[in-house]
Amino acid sequence: MKYRKIVIKIGTSVLAKKDRSIDKGIIENIASQVSCLLDRGVKVILVTSGAIGCGCVILKLKTVPKSLSGLQAIASIGQNELMRFYSEAFKKRNYLTGQILLTQEDFDHRRRYLNIKYTIDALISKNAVPIVNENDTVSTEEIKCGDNDRLSSLVADLSEADSLIMLTDVDGLYDKDGKVITLVEKISEDIKKLSLANVRGSTSLTSERDERGRTSNAKITKGGMATKIEAAERSINSGIDCFIANGRKADIILNILEGKGVYTYFKAKPIKAKAKKRWIAYSSKVKGRIIVDDGALRALKEAKKSLLASGIIGKEGNFKAGDVVGISDSKRRDFARGLTSYSSKEIERIKGLKTNEIESVLGYKDHDEVVHRDNLVIL
Ligand code: GLU
Repeated sequence: MKYRKIVIKIGTSVLAKKDRSIDKGIIENIASQVSCLLDRGVKVILVTSGAIGCGCVILKLKTVPKSLSGLQAIASIGQNELMRFYSEAFKKRNYLTGQILLTQEDFDHRRRYLNIKYTIDALISKNAVPIVNENDTVSTEEIKCGDNDRLSSLVADLSEADSLIMLTDVDGLYDKDGKVITLVEKISEDIKKLSLANVRGSTSLTSERDERGRTSNAKITKGGMATKIEAAERSINSGIDCFIANGRKADIILNILEGKGVYTYFKAKPIKAKAKKRWIAYSSKVKGRIIVDDGALRALKEAKKSLLASGIIGKEGNFKAGDVVGISDSKRRDFARGLTSYSSKEIERIKGLKTNEIESVLGYKDHDEVVHRDNLVIL
């Protein structure tokens, strides 16, 4: 087997039947394929959607509530049931399951990020399948991962998986003639445009009409082909092979791994950045921006130097020391990301200063560099 650790993302469109209830047959099918892999010593982490859909069915709701607390309550009820289906299916096959619910905040803080990684490793070592979803019960717009395509690529990187399989209700990414593209080596602008044209791959459970005939904005499922392509891009840049395939087809996971059947394969880039730099570049969300002059731009991009206060001409947003920030040129074009050693308030006071002037202004100087080279990624 080429892969040793696989993240499998299961979309609501795979799990939901026409009446929107969870298709237990699909969960059985997935559990049976995953058990086959586990029996062969392959490590598997599942990222599953379906909590909100499941909650709606339990409460017999025709539309998703628009209020945040209503949505959170439904996710809470649905997540419980969803996990029950998975744990029963795996128990039959002598495997345990462990639930992990995450928000973007878990990826933003390096310590929390590493803690999740250790928990996933510990679960795997106990013969349990980690089952991840967004923590919809506590997440608000500001702290959301967004969609589970993105979440699955973040989990694949965090867990140092070597492949990511995104299961949906279509066979892969389609070209203009409606044929599945079997291999993508580079996510070009054309591929991105195609993904927007692929209306299939984003299920239409989203625009239900309520009792008064209004279309609800709240959605049972997020994402579509475009978010899958973004997730694929993040993965292949992190050295992780990625697949988009139809999760409703029997044996699809096993077929992909044996190179059989129809799906789109996104080939990983051979060069893999160090884990910490990948975290800075792809996993965390920027909390603000540092704007630099042309001299600093060249020093960072060409001479591969650290960012010093003298090259800083401005900042945007409020951030703390230790946060990930974007670094942009004078036209506000982000060209790098880094972990800042100084807060936005401190940067406001020390911008443009020589390093040996920092202490006289702040009364202390914890670091010479505002962003150290080791904590900086050129995009
Ligand atoms: N976390 C959501 C749920 O479990 C799904 C989000 C998504 O489909 O991307 O219902």
